[in-house]
Amino acid sequence: MSDHHHHDDHDHHHDNHYSDMQARVKALETLLTAKGLIDPAAIDAIVETYETKVGPRNGAQVVAKAWVDAEFRDWLTRDATAAIASLGFSGRQGEHMRAVFNAPDEHNLVVCTLCSCYPWSVLGLPPVWYKAPAYRSRAVMDPRGVLAEFGVTLPEDTRIRVWDSTAELRYLVVPERPAGTERLNEAALAALVTRDSMIGTGLALSPEALALQPEAAR
Ligand code: FE
Repeated sequence: MSDHHHHDDHDHHHDNHYSDMQARVKALETLLTAKGLIDPAAIDAIVETYETKVGPRNGAQVVAKAWVDAEFRDWLTRDATAAIASLGFSGRQGEHMRAVFNAPDEHNLVVCTLCSCYPWSVLGLPPVWYKAPAYRSRAVMDPRGVLAEFGVTLPEDTRIRVWDSTAELRYLVVPERPAGTERLNEAALAALVTRDSMIGTGLALSPEALALQPEAAR
C-alpha cells in the first residue's frame, strides 16, 4: 500500500512538517495582529465555518440527493467524481472520489492511516481527531472501539469496512437515510447529514435529534 500512497508536497503536509508550518502560521498571525491588519477572532470564525459548515454542507447535499434520486445514487456508485462534480463540488483534494454506502448489515469508516488525506471538496477541512495518530491507527485495529467512543454502537453482526484514503482516492460515506423521513424534501434531508456521518464516525440524525441540537452546532 505504501507504493500506492504518495503525496504531493504542494497540497499536503505530513506530520513532520506540521509543527514547523504551525510555528510559521502563528508567527504570521502574531505579526499581522500586532500591525492591526487582521482580527484573530475573524480568522477563527472563517476556519470554524470551513470545518463545520461550508465543507460538510456540500457533502450533505450529495448524500441527500443520493437518498431521493435513484439515478443519481447509481451514478454516484459508478463514478462518484463525476456525480459529485455535477453538483459543483470538485477540485482540490476531491479529484478522485469514491462513495461507499452504509446498509443495515454494513457500515463504512474512512481513515488515512499515513497522514490526513480527506475529501476537502465535499467535507471541507479535516477535524483535528482525523489527523491524530490515535484515530489513524485504531480505526483499522479496533473500528468498533473507535465507533463506540464516537457514540455509535452497531449490531454485532453489522460488518464494518474501513477505507484507507490516499492522495489518489478519497472516500465519502453515504449514511443510511433515517427512519421517519419519507416526507422530507432534499434540503430538509441534507440538514440531517452530519460531517461525521460522512466519515463513518457518526450516523445521520433523526429529525427529532436535529431539533434538539443548538442552532450553532448545525
Ligand atoms: Fe494522507
